[in-house]
Amino acid sequence: MSDSTEGNGKREQLVVERVPKALLVGGRWRPASDGREYEVEDPSTARPLCAVPDAGAEDARAAMDAAAAAQDGWAATAPRERGEILRRAFELIVERQQELALLMTLEMGKPVAESRSEVLYAAEFFRWFSEEAVRIEGGWRTAPDGNGRIWVMRRPVGPALLITPWNFPMAMGTRKIGPAVAAGCTMIVKPAHQTPLSMLALAEILGQAGLPDGVLNVLTTSRPAEISDPLTDDPRLRKLSFTGSTGVGRKLIELSARQVLRTSMELGGNAPLIVCRDADLEKAVEGAAIAKMRNIGEACTAANRIYVHRELAEAFTGRLAEKLGSMVVGRGTEPGTQVGPLIDGAGLDKVDRLVRDAVSAGARAVTGGAPLSDRPGYFYPPTVLADVPTDAAMLREEIFGPVAPVVTFEDDDEALRLANDTEFGLVGYVFTESLRRGIRYAEELETGMLGLNKGVVSTPAAPFGGVKQSGTGREGGSVGIDEYLEIKYVAVDV
Ligand code: NAP
Repeated sequence: MSDSTEGNGKREQLVVERVPKALLVGGRWRPASDGREYEVEDPSTARPLCAVPDAGAEDARAAMDAAAAAQDGWAATAPRERGEILRRAFELIVERQQELALLMTLEMGKPVAESRSEVLYAAEFFRWFSEEAVRIEGGWRTAPDGNGRIWVMRRPVGPALLITPWNFPMAMGTRKIGPAVAAGCTMIVKPAHQTPLSMLALAEILGQAGLPDGVLNVLTTSRPAEISDPLTDDPRLRKLSFTGSTGVGRKLIELSARQVLRTSMELGGNAPLIVCRDADLEKAVEGAAIAKMRNIGEACTAANRIYVHRELAEAFTGRLAEKLGSMVVGRGTEPGTQVGPLIDGAGLDKVDRLVRDAVSAGARAVTGGAPLSDRPGYFYPPTVLADVPTDAAMLREEIFGPVAPVVTFEDDDEALRLANDTEFGLVGYVFTESLRRGIRYAEELETGMLGLNKGVVSTPAAPFGGVKQSGTGREGGSVGIDEYLEIKYVAVDV
């Protein structure tokens, strides 16, 4: 083993060791009440990194007790104080960016450069909501008949359960924790079982930033239903915010009906990316490469269906294949790596199944097309498929991997029909040099967001969310805090 490999190994071990491997309940770090633990795996080696507590129903009740006990005091805290805690946490995250990025890469797999971007993106939600905490507005108006006044105020919803996915282990947390803290809600956070370490590190930082005990409670578990069942049955819980797949989201909406919880659902996507006849080809290739390959294709916003005007299809497919085919696949911690492993064996099997299905139905792999079995871990190479039939399973399901299926179209009507033919509606991308055409797509694509000549839409300053079965509610922007506030109207006699 070379000195540098050994040094890197030590650094990796140190960042993992530094994370508290415990549940956070009422300000106390502690093991699961029944002592159970589960192993967290490094997807680039398929080897365990460490073990974390495997929380069950008793821990869920304890976390609920802590969140409920802290709620009134927290709601009464000055908005500026809540904002300052977020601001300090923002600064601490930025200071520790390198180490947090390495930790994230170890548990999730993405290249360290992408983890660094996510850490900053995650921190920005805290900065954004530190500024929103002091701008919670109400209203005052004279009743139309002049008799009395209409007073509208906003109050924190109350204790919230926040469930996050593995693909953006920190940002999907801060996008919920930021507005919940700003609004004055206490919370129980359940990170995905594959990526608990980034959330535990984040919770420690929030404590260092001054977040009072009990406001944020964290439960790591491999048995999610044992947490969500008792919590959604508990009348003290008032809100459930979930980011994850549409299937699990549906189940959680059903559970939320028991106590008629406020819900925010950031669910799956099946993004169309449309390259119009008048598109700037290089811009479109660049945009498609980012929209497809960001996060190894494991993003709800990933371009899942690439529709290209027939006249541009050959040139576009060739350029995209060249670009994706030259990307360096490897362990996310290795310098120069652009494509890391997929999250686990199930993720890899799904991508493999979808590619095989498309190829057997007539698609052609221009680059890639089979898992990389020459190494441990869950690696799939960047893949571009041409001539994908419109009924291929990969155009219906989220691929969640580095596979770009290209389908051709004849005119805008057909592109819109194909793009809207899905139950999902998170985001779309359109490449055109025509303003008129851009406006038409912006109005007629059934999505919550649109990238117009742009392959990335995510920013804390904009409302992120979907329509149809991609979810309800918005995270970020000036409306993100509303998900954690109730409107109260007071009829005033004067
Ligand atoms: P997932 O399987 O739906 O899991 C998401 C979270 O839900 C995890 O923490 C998971 O815990 C938990 N969960 C699963 N079953 C549960 C239950 N019965 N009760 C309570 N919690 C439960 O999704 P994923 O594979 O982590 O993430 C990928 C999905 O997220 C994709 O569909 C992607 O499009 C979507 N996503 C959407 C957005 C958005 O903003 N719209 C952003 C990112 C990702 P375990 O890990 O323990 O199973």
